[in-house]
Amino acid sequence: MKDERLRRIFSFQALYAGVSPQKALAAYGVISYMDTVAGVYFPKGGMRAVGTAMASAACDAGASIRYGTSVERLERRGNEVRAVHTDQGERLPCNHVVLTNDLPEAYRLLGRSPRRPARRGFSPSAVVLHLGTDRTWEQLSHHTILFGREWEQTFTDIIERGRTMNDPSLLVTQPTVSDPSLAPDGRHLLYVLAPAPNLRAGRIDWADEGQRYRDKLVATLEKRGLTGLDASVCSERLITPQDWQRQGLAHGTPFSLSHTFMQTGPFRPRNTVRGISNAVLAGCGTTPGVGLPTVLVSGKLAARKVMQRAAQGAR
Ligand SMILES: Cc1cc2nc3c(=O)[nH]c(=O)nc-3n(C[C@H](O)[C@H](O)[C@H](O)COP(=O)(O)OP(=O)(O)OC[C@H]3O[C@@H](n4cnc5c(N)ncnc54)[C@H](O)[C@@H]3O)c2cc1C
Repeated sequence: MKDERLRRIFSFQALYAGVSPQKALAAYGVISYMDTVAGVYFPKGGMRAVGTAMASAACDAGASIRYGTSVERLERRGNEVRAVHTDQGERLPCNHVVLTNDLPEAYRLLGRSPRRPARRGFSPSAVVLHLGTDRTWEQLSHHTILFGREWEQTFTDIIERGRTMNDPSLLVTQPTVSDPSLAPDGRHLLYVLAPAPNLRAGRIDWADEGQRYRDKLVATLEKRGLTGLDASVCSERLITPQDWQRQGLAHGTPFSLSHTFMQTGPFRPRNTVRGISNAVLAGCGTTPGVGLPTVLVSGKLAARKVMQRAAQGAR
């Protein structure tokens, strides 16, 4: 593609894989293909509906779920995890354990280090601004991408220099375009995603910088056509890399290990854990990788592994 604008439209998706378009494997062109040719789906009721549906399928199959409960410790005997201890003081005995929290935290709970101790590369992070507004803008679709003029420098800023984007490129999502029932009558939901440095690359104190950056994002959106945005805000919530870190996500990024060649496919951390016979990993840090479809595949792989081990144990 010769046209710079087309190049951007068909390559920015590399950032989903945690790498800049200039450095991404060509294979990640598949994401652009999925977005533009195959098409994407939005669940009625919002993304939350996917989790709710999965939870009710699990409960129908006999699972019980504890919400608002953290696993504090795993009880081990030899090479086996025997029980899970929660912050509610419960001890849950187990035959198998599947850990889906962020990889470094999972290794910490297991008291193990990864097979390959080399320093791993983490994806850039994101600032997310959730807004409830009392108006909408006709130019907004469900997903709208607002590109800044700067391009290569944007990735250098967030990945190498650890700075926020000087001339931001932003994803604006308005789910109420597809499902108005997500907001009260006459109200709309906006979610603004601004790629940002993770806390290893950048030394930004978000407690101090957060509100200023929020104002900068809103001012940028107003300049790019969402006039009157600030005045239309009825409710809002800002999520910064420090908030992701507080949720237990290493280096304050929700996108885990970046999908560089050496952290992809067979080179991504495996879902089995050296020296522990009944633990399996799932989620975005292990194979196949980041994103909802991939994470669901990792769940299937973990289930298969547990079934195989259970069958071996029964023999
Ligand atoms: C802003 C944003 C936009 C995204 N957009 C897309 C997109 O458009 N398409 C796409 O495919 N992917 C997208 N993703 C990526 C996708 O959401 C993630 O890759 C995926 O959700 C990761 O799933 P996971 O199960 O590994 O981790 P999570 O979804 O983070 O689940 C891990 C769970 O473990 C819980 N947990 C952690 N520690 C403990 C503990 N000690 N005890 C008990 N529970 C614990 C956490 O609370 C959390 O609920 C996006 C992510 C973000 C943040």
